[in-house]
Amino acid sequence: MKLWWVMAVAFQLVATHAAAEEAQCVRERAAMIETIRAHAAKDATTLPQGIAEPVLKAMAEIERHRFIPEGTCAVGYVDRPVSIGHRSTISQPFIVALMTHLAEVRPEHTALEIGTGSGYQAAILAKLVKQVCTVEILAPLAVHAMRVLAERGHDNARVRVGDGYDGWPECGPYDSIIVTAALGHVPAPLVEQLKVGGRLVMPLGPPGDVQYLTVIEKTGPGETRGRVVMLVRFVPFVRSPH
Ligand code: SAH
Repeated sequence: MKLWWVMAVAFQLVATHAAAEEAQCVRERAAMIETIRAHAAKDATTLPQGIAEPVLKAMAEIERHRFIPEGTCAVGYVDRPVSIGHRSTISQPFIVALMTHLAEVRPEHTALEIGTGSGYQAAILAKLVKQVCTVEILAPLAVHAMRVLAERGHDNARVRVGDGYDGWPECGPYDSIIVTAALGHVPAPLVEQLKVGGRLVMPLGPPGDVQYLTVIEKTGPGETRGRVVMLVRFVPFVRSPH
C-alpha cells in the first residue's frame, strides 16, 4: 500500500515537472518569434514587410530545442547559433527566418538544403513546402537529423549523406535552394538543378571570415541575377575528396 502511494507521488512530481518545462518552452518559443520580428523591424531597408507570416508560424510550431543535442528550452530559443558538435552549429533563429523568407518558398515547392546539420532548417522547410531534400557531408549529423525529423513526423524531408556541392539531381529540379555553409562561389550544379524563376540563398565569401548572404535568382537557362542582403558568418563549406 505504502509503495503504491510513494509511486503515485513520484509520478505526480515527474508529470508536474514535465508540464512546467513544456510551459517554459512555449513561452521561450513565443519570445523567440518576437525577437525575430524586432530584428526584422530594425532592418526595414532589407525587410520592408518583415519576415513572411507563414515562416514565423512554422518557426512558432517547430520545437527547436529537440534538434539540439541535450537541448533545453533555456538554450533552444535564444537568438544565437548553438553548437551541435562536429564543429557545426544550428544557425541563429533570425538567420533561419531570413533565409527561408528570402527563398520565397511556397506549399507546392520542392526545396533543397545543403548542410543539414541539426535538421532544424529542414524541419522549417518541411512545414512550408511539398518536398525537402537535404544533404549533409558529416554522416553522424545526417543520421541524427534523420532520426529527429522522423520522430517529429516530417515525412516529406529526405536526408542524404554526401558532398552537397553536386546537389541532389534525382530529388530535383528545385524551386528553392538554401545553402547553410560558406563558400566563395555558387556551385554550378546547384544552379543547374534550380528551376527557372527559382531562388538560391547562400553565404558567399571566404570561410572563416564574414560572408555576403546572397539571393541568386535563375532568370533563364544558364542565366542568374544576384543580390547581396547582409553580412553573415557561417561554418565552412567543405569538399569531400573525389
Ligand atoms: N542548416 C543547419 C545548420 C548547418 S551548419 C541546421 O539547421 O542545423 C552547416 C552544415 O553544413 C554543417 O553541418 C556542415 O557539416 C555542413 N556542410 C559543410 N560542407 C558541406 C558540403 N559540401 N555538403 C553538405 N554539407 C556540408
